[in-house]
Amino acid sequence: MLNLRRHRAALICLSLLLLHGSAQAEPAPSPKVVFVIVDGIPADVIERVPTPAIDAIAAGGGYSRATVGGPVGTSGETPTISAPGYMSLVTGTWANKHNVYDNYGISPDYDYWNLFRLARDQKPELRLGIFSTWTDNRTVLLGEGLAEAGNWRFDVVVDGLEEDETRFPPQPLDAQIADVDDAVSREAARLIESEGPDVSWVYLQYTDDVAHEHGDSPELDQAVVDMDARVGLIWSGVRARQKAFDEDWLLIITTDHGRDAETGRDHGGQTERERTIWIATNSQRLTPDFHAMPEIVDIYPSIATHLGITIPEQVARHLDGASFIQ
Ligand SMILES: [Zn+2]
Repeated sequence: MLNLRRHRAALICLSLLLLHGSAQAEPAPSPKVVFVIVDGIPADVIERVPTPAIDAIAAGGGYSRATVGGPVGTSGETPTISAPGYMSLVTGTWANKHNVYDNYGISPDYDYWNLFRLARDQKPELRLGIFSTWTDNRTVLLGEGLAEAGNWRFDVVVDGLEEDETRFPPQPLDAQIADVDDAVSREAARLIESEGPDVSWVYLQYTDDVAHEHGDSPELDQAVVDMDARVGLIWSGVRARQKAFDEDWLLIITTDHGRDAETGRDHGGQTERERTIWIATNSQRLTPDFHAMPEIVDIYPSIATHLGITIPEQVARHLDGASFIQ
């Protein structure tokens, strides 16, 4: 009896050794993240207009309506304006903390660490990327290179094109911004495939410009179709990269605010259509919370979860969101 037990114990040890050995032979694929903000597209518009690329991404993961703007009537209430929305995403907090209430003339409170500072601090070896039609995202909102924002830097930067009047001469109704979005998404797709930065932000602006000019209109619908093609390019870059390398890519596409119900031209208030955004993702590890109206501030902890980053207590205690990824 005693001998049999020893024999069993030895067998168990042997199988554990074998399991351990095979786990060492196949390390877990490296987690990578790219999140895309496409500007000012209400949920009802993204759901009505044909968006085959976003549909294909969500088919392997999920799509859900979500909210922005924070808890109405409390200190966390946040205007449904672009920069406050981006800041809520990249800091996981509402405006009473990140202190961004408008697009210009702002003083972000850098004490609330953005995702890139968190990644740089917790995993210094990660490569950080930004592909953006608005340079202020990097220089002002994230505070790249500023001592008071932690003095960290991106490894891959594609922005400033909207200020390059030689390459993108000003056109009526800012139509050159569509070309900038094209260039930004092409470069994002190319550099994601060739360099595979670990955490990237892509920002595409043109949909918001069209909506401010035309409101709810065939022009806005067409801009959404064009945006979807740009997201499709980025998705192709991710898939090509994933085929060539043992990497586990998380792609999240969202918007920063909806628009007013009457015309679709404006935003900034707390009406249902202005507050209702959406999130599409390829993640196959979504929790039920993803389908129960998540908030834009939930994206930050979800990305940290995917990257395997443990958020330090001094950052975690300020977060207003929770992860929708297991
Ligand atoms: Zn916006």
